[in-house]
Amino acid sequence: CSLSLSDIEISQSCIPKPIDQVAKEVGLFPDEVELYGQTKAKIQLSVLKRLQNQPDGKYVVVTGITPTPLGEGKSTTTVGLVQALGAHLRQNVFACVRQPSQGPTFGIKGGAAGGGYCQVVPMEEFNLHLTGDIHAITAANNLVAAAIDARIFHELTQSDQALYNRLVPSVNGVRKFSDIQIRRLQKLGINKTDPMALTKEEVNAFVRLDIDPGTITWQRVLDTNDRFLRKITIGQSAQFDITVSSEIMAVLALADGLDDMKKRFGRMVVASSKKGIPVTADDLGVTGALAVLMKDAVKPNLMQTLEGTPVFVHAGPFANIAHGNSSVLADKIALKLVGKDGFVVTEAGFGADIGMEKFFNIKCRYSGLRPHVVVLVATVRALKMHGGGPAVTAGVPLPKEYTEENLQLVAKGCSNLTKQIQNARMFGVPVVVAVNAFKTDTKAELALVVQHAKEAGAFDAVECTHWAEGGKGALALARAVQRASQAPSNFKFLYNVELPVVDKIRLIAQQVYGARDIELLPEAQEKVALYTKQGFGNLPICMAKTHLSLSHDPEQKGAPTGFVLPIRDIRASVGAGFLYPLVGTMSTMPGLPTRPCFYDIDLDPVSGAVNGLF
Ligand code: ADP
Repeated sequence: CSLSLSDIEISQSCIPKPIDQVAKEVGLFPDEVELYGQTKAKIQLSVLKRLQNQPDGKYVVVTGITPTPLGEGKSTTTVGLVQALGAHLRQNVFACVRQPSQGPTFGIKGGAAGGGYCQVVPMEEFNLHLTGDIHAITAANNLVAAAIDARIFHELTQSDQALYNRLVPSVNGVRKFSDIQIRRLQKLGINKTDPMALTKEEVNAFVRLDIDPGTITWQRVLDTNDRFLRKITIGQSAQFDITVSSEIMAVLALADGLDDMKKRFGRMVVASSKKGIPVTADDLGVTGALAVLMKDAVKPNLMQTLEGTPVFVHAGPFANIAHGNSSVLADKIALKLVGKDGFVVTEAGFGADIGMEKFFNIKCRYSGLRPHVVVLVATVRALKMHGGGPAVTAGVPLPKEYTEENLQLVAKGCSNLTKQIQNARMFGVPVVVAVNAFKTDTKAELALVVQHAKEAGAFDAVECTHWAEGGKGALALARAVQRASQAPSNFKFLYNVELPVVDKIRLIAQQVYGARDIELLPEAQEKVALYTKQGFGNLPICMAKTHLSLSHDPEQKGAPTGFVLPIRDIRASVGAGFLYPLVGTMSTMPGLPTRPCFYDIDLDPVSGAVNGLF
């Protein structure tokens, strides 16, 4: 293997197995597999029923230290670990990863298929379009947005009776409520099934959602980084967001079947009425149509790694205003397919304080799945930055602190590693630290990180060279994960959802981030009262905090303590099933940098090959 090759050159140098062969190897039946060309397939959810009596495999979550612009390699390590377990140690394995948004792929970050000799292939298929799930989410999201504005328009321009005639039309002289309308009547406390039996007051309550335009939280979305769409004026909608930040995406990631997905769609709150009553997708009558638009997106996508081990690519919610984890359905199917002695390696976004905390407290709470091992990825360079190393600038060579040995910076930065190990152990799960080696790291630096990790309570810590060597370079990691999966895991949640909202937020801030306390700004206080009154106070918490620090200040590296975490506002994703406190401002529509990744992306008109993705 030559290290001078780019990620896409490595990906294209591999001839993937036909995906129906991969499907057969993992025990799927042909009628459970929907082929999308040679290298991608969707898997029918019926497989869960067929395998319901099969015991689950071991469940491993990959997370990291607090991210820095130097990159840590969680996706690369996820792929390296399954390549080592599957292709070298001959275990049944599955990797479950998120589908990337095209915003960052064309913007500043590039793709997310892993890197070097640990990638999901073909990486251009993985990074662009895949099987169209994100496009389906865009369509579903924007249908809700259109439904809100149309409803406001029609309510403004029509009388109660005219609205009623259109909402409950007379067909051959007979009026009938649809299922979704019966649900709305029940919500209003009207237990009548005969449309002719409603009183005038009941008709009024039924036809008028009376949406307060100032309370609309639903935005239109597009899967492109486009700074200009952050603030525009079209009707009642003030901005566009990027598709992956849509609640539809979070629902896709947390649903455990078609029925559950539909119910979650129906519960999504898009605004309040002028009387303060939550208005849902069900009230708009759009739930069934959303399910129809998402009927294929709900099926996980099967792909493979460079070494031919299976991968599910499914869902990719934001890791700040949403929970940043791939889908529950992919994990559940994979756990059945690998069987009792197999391993499913799933990845959580950002650092352990965010992606892993949400993996445990939100994803595992809803899925009922219990993790056996946490793999925590660390790099020497990132720890040096946590130890006070200088800032880096894109396009400029790295300062010498990152390219020459500096044990002092590494030792100081290990405060972050220690805190993130403690965070994982707090949930009662054994932690294996994977030190992802870069070619400039020295032996002494790598050994120092391993030693620190063990002293901080890691079950084991190992150096890995999988980026350069593929699965072979993660064999020590794979063996450590095998051993850790036999150790007792006493998994527990950090909080009981029935606790008051403020107590849940404070617990996360103090226990996971190291804050002294929290401070609720006036808007957040109002929302606590509103959501508690509306009956959403018992939802889990999904903190929208910077990923670049354990605190709210991205400049604070290492493991800051004694700070007071400000909670600016709180929003609700009721369908997905969480409240998300905003710690500082979060952009839900990224912009493009001066020289976006798309400068280098091109199509060879002769061979049809895609070049320049990374
Ligand atoms: P994360 O999932 O933590 O965001 P990725 O796995 O996507 O990180 O890796 C980020 C980038 O760093 C990728 O371009 C990958 O190729 C590169 N990378 C990861 N590990 C190494 C390594 N050991 N040496 C060199 N580059 C690496």
